[in-house]
Amino acid sequence: MDFSRSTEHRQIQEMVAEFADDVIAPRAAELDRTDEFPWDLVDEMAELGLMGMPFPTAVGGAGLDYHAYASALEEISRASGGVGTIIAAHTSLAGNMLYHYGNDTQHEAYLVPLNEGDEIGSFALSEPEAGSDVPSMTTTAERDGDEYVINGQKLWISNGSVAETIVTFAKTDSDAGHRGITAFVVRADDEGFVVEGTEDKLGDKGCPTAELSYRDVRIPVDRRLGEDGDGFKQALETLNGGRITIAARGVGIAQAALDAALEYAQDREQFGQPISEFQAIQHKLADMDTKVQAARLLMHRAAGLKEQGKPFIKEAAQAKLYSSEISREVANEGIQIHGGYGYVKDFPVERFYRDAKLNEIYEGTSEVLRNTIAIQLLR
Ligand SMILES: Cc1cc2nc3c(=O)[nH]c(=O)nc-3n(C[C@H](O)[C@H](O)[C@H](O)COP(=O)(O)OP(=O)(O)OC[C@H]3O[C@@H](n4cnc5c(N)ncnc54)[C@H](O)[C@@H]3O)c2cc1C
Repeated sequence: MDFSRSTEHRQIQEMVAEFADDVIAPRAAELDRTDEFPWDLVDEMAELGLMGMPFPTAVGGAGLDYHAYASALEEISRASGGVGTIIAAHTSLAGNMLYHYGNDTQHEAYLVPLNEGDEIGSFALSEPEAGSDVPSMTTTAERDGDEYVINGQKLWISNGSVAETIVTFAKTDSDAGHRGITAFVVRADDEGFVVEGTEDKLGDKGCPTAELSYRDVRIPVDRRLGEDGDGFKQALETLNGGRITIAARGVGIAQAALDAALEYAQDREQFGQPISEFQAIQHKLADMDTKVQAARLLMHRAAGLKEQGKPFIKEAAQAKLYSSEISREVANEGIQIHGGYGYVKDFPVERFYRDAKLNEIYEGTSEVLRNTIAIQLLR
C-alpha cells in the first residue's frame, strides 16, 4: 500500500498545523479550564473550510479526501482534544449521515449550513441504557400522518447542547430489533426537544456532552434520512468512517505528548545533565515515537481503503483501537518524563492524558472494537 502523500496533502496539513499552533493551542488551556464552547474558533475554522472538510464544494464542503481530512484532524487534536471532538462529531458523524443518506433538499437545508460553519451538527445514538448495545435503544418515532412523533432520551451527545441539527436515531418498529431503527433530522428549535444539561467530564473540555430529551417532538416525514429501518446500518457505516477521525484525534494527542516530553527532557537537568541523557528517558521517547508513527500508518491505511471504496471495517477499528490505546500510553509516559511537573496544570501533559482516555470509550469502546476485529478475522 502506498502511503506517500501528495504535495496538496502536505500543504493542507501544514496550513492546518500552523492554524493549530497559532490559534488553537494558545487557547487550549483556557478551553480546558472554562469548558466553554469556542464559538469564535468555530468561526475561524469555518473561514478556513475546516467545518466540512471531506464533502464536495457543491454542498459547501472543502472537497478534501480522507487522508487530508484525517491529517487535518490530527493537527487540530494536537492542539486541543476538545476541538478535535467538536469537528469529529460535527463532520464525521452528523455531516456524513446527512451527506450519504440525505437527499438534495436535505443537503441544501441541513448539510450546507454545517459545512459552511453557520450551524453545528451532532449525532444522537447513545442512550442511558443503550451504549454499546445500540439495538436496545428505547427512543421511539411513531408515524402520525405526514409526521413522526419522537419520544425518548439521549445521553453523551457531543455538541448536543450547541447543535442546530441533531441527527437522531429512534425506533420506528419496536419489535424489529436493529431493523426497526430509523434516523431523523431533529432541529434544536423543534417543540419538545430539550437539552437537559451537559456532563462535567474528565477531559475533552470545550466540546459539550449533552443529555437530550424528546417529548412528543413532531417532525415532518421529509426529515427522515433514508427509509424506515435503515438507521442501524447507516449508524454503523458512519461510525466506521468516524473511527478513522478518532484515530486521528489519538495520533494528534499522542504527538502533542511526545513533543512536550522531547522539549522538557532536553531542558530539565538532574544529576548535572539533561534528563534526555539518561537511557531510561531515551527509551521512553523512542517507544513513544514508534507508537505514534505506527498509529499514523494504521490511520492512513484505513483512510486509503475508504478512499478507494474498499472494505475498511477491520482497518478502521484497528486504527482507532491502536491509536486510542497508544495515545493514553504516550500521554502517560509524557507525564512520567515531566515527573511532578507532569502532574500539575502548569504543563499540558496531564490534559493530554485526560483527553486521550476518551478515545478508548466513544465511537466503539476498545472491547467492542476487539469484537469487531475478531468478527472480521473469523468470518
Ligand atoms: C465524552 C463522550 C462523548 C460521546 N459522544 C457521543 C456522541 O456524540 N453520540 C453518541 O451517540 N454517543 C456518544 N458517546 C457515547 C459512547 O459512544 C458510549 O459511551 C459508548 O458507546 C459506550 O457505551 P456505554 O457508555 O453505555 O458503556 P457500556 O456499553 O455500558 O459499556 C460498559 C463496559 O462494558 C463493555 N462492554 C459492553 N458490551 C460489551 C461486549 N459486547 N463485549 C465486551 N465488552 C463489552 C464496554 O467495552 C465497557 O468497558 C460519547 C461518550 C462520551 C463519554
